[in-house]
Amino acid sequence: MKIVILLGAPGSGKGTVAARLVAADATLKHVSSGDLLRDAVKRQTPAGVEAEGFMKRGELVPDTIIAQMIGDLMKGIQGECTLLLDGFPRTVVQAEILDKTIAGCGAELSCAVLLDVADEVLVERIAGRRGCPKCGAGYHIKNLPPKVEGICDVCGAELITRKDDNPETVKNRLAVYKSQTMPLIDFYKGRGQLREVAGVGAIDEIVTRVKQALA
Ligand code: ADP
Ligand code: ZN
Repeated sequence: MKIVILLGAPGSGKGTVAARLVAADATLKHVSSGDLLRDAVKRQTPAGVEAEGFMKRGELVPDTIIAQMIGDLMKGIQGECTLLLDGFPRTVVQAEILDKTIAGCGAELSCAVLLDVADEVLVERIAGRRGCPKCGAGYHIKNLPPKVEGICDVCGAELITRKDDNPETVKNRLAVYKSQTMPLIDFYKGRGQLREVAGVGAIDEIVTRVKQALA
């Protein structure tokens, strides 16, 4: 198993890029810690119950919950594949946990791809973001609108705005990214594992840049 980490601020496009890469390559698997957590909250598992308040406030969920979740997930994966980690690791402590998990299961860390996007763009992207609660497809009211307003192209469900995409929580999530996640940039750079990609422009262009960075 190979691991690719997608690094970038909230709204930098990690999920969108991952979905596009996975659609074109069956050996890739997209793992979004945010999606896993939202699912746990929906099902009200013990981890979900504990995580809910942190997520509402835009704070990080405790590392122990994340470590357990990712550890379980990696244990369950069989065969040759590349995991695209989206939203994890988010702190240096989590990166160290990931190193141990990788060593423990004979996997290999390929690289960390940083999607570089300016703050103003992040705020605008998050404000217009909509998602399908049924199939997980992502949209943006301006940049990637559904064919029929408010309705998922793929499955016809009504699109929703994530609870934590309100301006107040977004401000907090960006601050948390700067203080707790940005140190990971130097962490992976120092090990020669960082690939920086401009995360702006057309989605196709960004996906092409990421593919080049992974080649
Ligand atoms: P975004 O990247 O747009 O902020 P995510 O869906 O990745 O959104 O995460 C949503 C929320 O889930 C975060 O604000 C945080 O509360 C929680 N979360 C996700 N991944 C992690 C993680 N690795 N460590 C701690 N909390 C996390
Ligand atoms: Zn849908």
